[in-house]
Amino acid sequence: MTTPSTHPALAWIDGELEALERQGLRRRLISREGAQTATVQVDGRELVNFAANDYLGLAADPRLAEAAREAARQDGWGSGASPLITGHSRIHQRLEQQLAAFEGTEAALVFPSGFAANAGTIAALTGPGDVVFSDRLNHASLWDGCRLCRADVRAYPHGDLQRLRRLLQRSADHRRRLIVTDTLFSMDGDLAPLAELTDLAEQFDAMLLVDEAHATGVFGPFGRGVSEQAGVEGRVPVRVGTMSKALGCVGGFVAGSRTLIEWLVNRARPYIFSTAGPSANAAAAIAALRIVRDEPQRRTTLLARAAELREALAAQGWELGTTASQIIPVIVGEPARAVAMAAELRKQGLFVPAIRPPTVPEGTARLRISLSYSHTSAQIDRLVDALGGFSRAGR
Ligand code: PMP
Repeated sequence: MTTPSTHPALAWIDGELEALERQGLRRRLISREGAQTATVQVDGRELVNFAANDYLGLAADPRLAEAAREAARQDGWGSGASPLITGHSRIHQRLEQQLAAFEGTEAALVFPSGFAANAGTIAALTGPGDVVFSDRLNHASLWDGCRLCRADVRAYPHGDLQRLRRLLQRSADHRRRLIVTDTLFSMDGDLAPLAELTDLAEQFDAMLLVDEAHATGVFGPFGRGVSEQAGVEGRVPVRVGTMSKALGCVGGFVAGSRTLIEWLVNRARPYIFSTAGPSANAAAAIAALRIVRDEPQRRTTLLARAAELREALAAQGWELGTTASQIIPVIVGEPARAVAMAAELRKQGLFVPAIRPPTVPEGTARLRISLSYSHTSAQIDRLVDALGGFSRAGR
């Protein structure tokens, strides 16, 4: 049942929501009680949490909260203005320096969110007369950047380098070329072919923007992401990350040359026209970066456990796509099937979200497992047992 909209001008929404309901596509907010950890309290029940992006278990780490508390004591809470006015504090500046040091780049810039960083950066780098090449499975924020920038946009099938090459070959009349890609695809857990993408970008004189949102802190010897793991970080001119996932905070960032950052300060509209985040968040992110640097076992353990989990689920016969990371999709096809399985798992105390179209292509509804360093082996075993309990016939 839906509640009728109160304003007649919005009455059409009722019908749309009912249609979503009938298709099993209607989403509803749930509210967590308490902290984001390996377990979450939802509706008074404690569930093992396979539904967070808190890959290194830092979201509720007391060191982050303490850093934020100290900064809030010093700076108060609100930043009060956009960065170019008076919103940018010394703590933001320190975070940007630390992000640049972490990423091994000349400079870095903090945005209100990863979404804003992606959308704002694409639109700052391209405009009419340019062309952007985007992997079909890229995150919504990259796609919205493509829409915002008013350049021509060429979608290429997921990971299809041949197709991308052909599209690049036909782009000689455009002023600038920009290739954009997730490095770790958020709904499939697979990795972009970054070495090949870097080669193509150089060959065709294209800019390359990579979104390391799910890989920052997790992949690469220093946790810089898939670019580092692939050995191409020095050749990727525009690296976007977010502090909202493995770093356990909120906010996005761009790392690159001083010139790039200077340009974004002048031209990235979500940076220029949004209020800066609280200094307290920046202080927590600085604490998180220190932990990523000092406790590499978090990422190595996480990735080792993810490999074991992928193996165990594959042995049960599940379709896992091409995942190679801590994000593991169990692809079951129809939305109703995914929703029913998620509900059953929830009854068993396990929170694994069902992901449906339009977030993923039709016919590929799935359960999406997000593994965290904070999960215990016993919790992971419970998940494997529960998934093993679904009868093959019912799949
Ligand atoms: N890029 C990717 C691949 C993402 O999955 C997300 C968040 N879901 C973002 C960017 C946006 O980051 P944020 O949550 O910090 O806005």
